[in-house]
Amino acid sequence: MSTSVPKILVVGGGYAGFYTAWKLEKHLRKGEAEVTIVDPLPYMTYQPFLPEVAAGGIEGRHVVVGLRRHLKRTNVVTAKVTGIDHANKVATITPEVGEPWQHHYDQIVVTAGAVSRTFPIPGIADNAIGLKTVEEALAIRDRLIANFDRAANLPAGPERDRLLSVVVVGGGFAGIEVFAELRGLASSLLRSYPQLRFEDTHFHLIEAMGRIMPEVSLETSQWVLKDLAKRGANVHLDTQVTGAEGGNVALSTGEVIPTDLIVWTAGVMANPTVVRGGDLPVEERGRIKTRADLRVGTEDEIVEGAWAAGDISAVPDLSGGGVGGFCVPNAQHAVRQAKLLAKNLVAVLRGEAPREYFHKNLGAVAGLGLYNGVFQSGKIALKGFVAWVAHRGYHGLAMPSWERKWRVVGDWWMNFWLSRDNVSLEATLTPRKTFEEFASRPRPAQPAAAEPTPAIDPKSVAKDEGAAAVAPAQKDNKVDDEKSDGATETEAAAKKPAAKKPAAKKPAAKKAASVEPSADTAEPSADTAEPSADTVAEQPTDGTDASVDSTAPKVSAER
Ligand SMILES: Cc1cc2nc3c(=O)[nH]c(=O)nc-3n(C[C@H](O)[C@H](O)[C@H](O)COP(=O)(O)OP(=O)(O)OC[C@H]3O[C@@H](n4cnc5c(N)ncnc54)[C@H](O)[C@@H]3O)c2cc1C
Repeated sequence: MSTSVPKILVVGGGYAGFYTAWKLEKHLRKGEAEVTIVDPLPYMTYQPFLPEVAAGGIEGRHVVVGLRRHLKRTNVVTAKVTGIDHANKVATITPEVGEPWQHHYDQIVVTAGAVSRTFPIPGIADNAIGLKTVEEALAIRDRLIANFDRAANLPAGPERDRLLSVVVVGGGFAGIEVFAELRGLASSLLRSYPQLRFEDTHFHLIEAMGRIMPEVSLETSQWVLKDLAKRGANVHLDTQVTGAEGGNVALSTGEVIPTDLIVWTAGVMANPTVVRGGDLPVEERGRIKTRADLRVGTEDEIVEGAWAAGDISAVPDLSGGGVGGFCVPNAQHAVRQAKLLAKNLVAVLRGEAPREYFHKNLGAVAGLGLYNGVFQSGKIALKGFVAWVAHRGYHGLAMPSWERKWRVVGDWWMNFWLSRDNVSLEATLTPRKTFEEFASRPRPAQPAAAEPTPAIDPKSVAKDEGAAAVAPAQKDNKVDDEKSDGATETEAAAKKPAAKKPAAKKPAAKKAASVEPSADTAEPSADTAEPSADTVAEQPTDGTDASVDSTAPKVSAER
């Protein structure tokens, strides 16, 4: 490397990446190393709060931590890492706009997390939505509330039932939490919709195994099942989803559930873009082989200059509690691994020995809707209100930085007194819709006028054509015409004073212009009834997912 200051590249600014960079800022002396963090999102997401965001209990913006605000001494790059050539210590960084570039580093920390793991079930990729991002959580909230608005206009019947049905796939922690939270949201919404009754809402959770929440004891999981049943929620155990098409979820039992909201939480897998796009060693489950000291490699072999932590890594669980001998993918591990990784990396830079990661699971705590939860640590289990307090207490304190803690606690405090906001902001997925509906557009290019026959004097033809093209266009909208594709033709004609002047005076041309409807008045139907290509692209094409992450980037690109 040309520079004497070691360059550290952190791939991914989620739990593990954010904490690694944050702690590196603390441990590194001034000028000791240069740290760059790359993430396609400008924020870290506190994922344990996503079920509460989906239920409208916390504002979406409040569960993310801005990287630029909190990483003052780190270069923050909003882009994707799409390749890691560790043999040459070069990463390919691909921005949303602009060309990819090569980033040379001395030390790489891979913390690009996990993505929703799905199976090739017909319709799932197109009609379901995951719960790994705040965008997904917000879209789920908005879809459920908007469906209440839609259902309230319908008479009782199949379509109303479909709109008021929610299917969650996966009975792990995330699935149960979001299922219970959404059930709570739906029940609270009913107060504002006198047309709808509790019996009109249908909640189904589908789990392939014979039990839910493997993180807690069987007894505790059965208590959760009973609690959900009391709240009118159906849990289908030993059942698989076989299809999700045409507004229905088909089950392996033969049942068919009509629904407009399918939330997929049936597992995660290590980020394939980063794992497959690199040359770091990978184990059979697709995670990066990582040592207990958080360096990439195996017990016998160290990949010098490479580190990994969090969901993308397979870190040996020295406490003996992990599945298959490795740490399970959760925030508890991601945060602690990141803190140690930062210390170890600094130690290695200084020629000192790194330490091994050891963490005994503290237990699991889940929120099951307002004033309800479950907590398990070893044989100790708490249920109901006490567990809910433990859930809020634990996560309120675990949220990184006081700045973010206050915002989350503020939401809880406000909702306690004012109750949660129950409006859908689904329209934010199509923010240009109203503007576009009424915006003036250039008139479509007119079909070319009849070819002048050689028998007629070409000059007189130019005059006549100029008059026909210019007169109505000037009347309609000068500014738009200047921008339109047809403008070249119009401008060229407008530059011909001989053609323009007589046209204005021609009574026949005037008459035609006044009879012909202008683009602003009689023709708006062309703008409204037939949506433009842009409008169509922004409309959600299916249940949920397509609309979720496409809007923001699309809008900025258009601007
Ligand atoms: C709904 C839900 C509830 C949960 N509840 C709990 C809980 O109660 N307790 C608990 O311990 N755990 C919980 N977890 C799990 C926990 O959130 C994860 O284990 C943790 O976020 C993993 O941290 P990570 O840094 O490995 O990955 P992430 O936090 O997912 O971060 C990965 C980052 O990498 C970025 N990235 C992706 N691709 C690229 C790329 N190509 N280049 C660069 N960056 C990239 C992503 O944008 C993201 O910011 C929950 C998870 C979910 C989804």
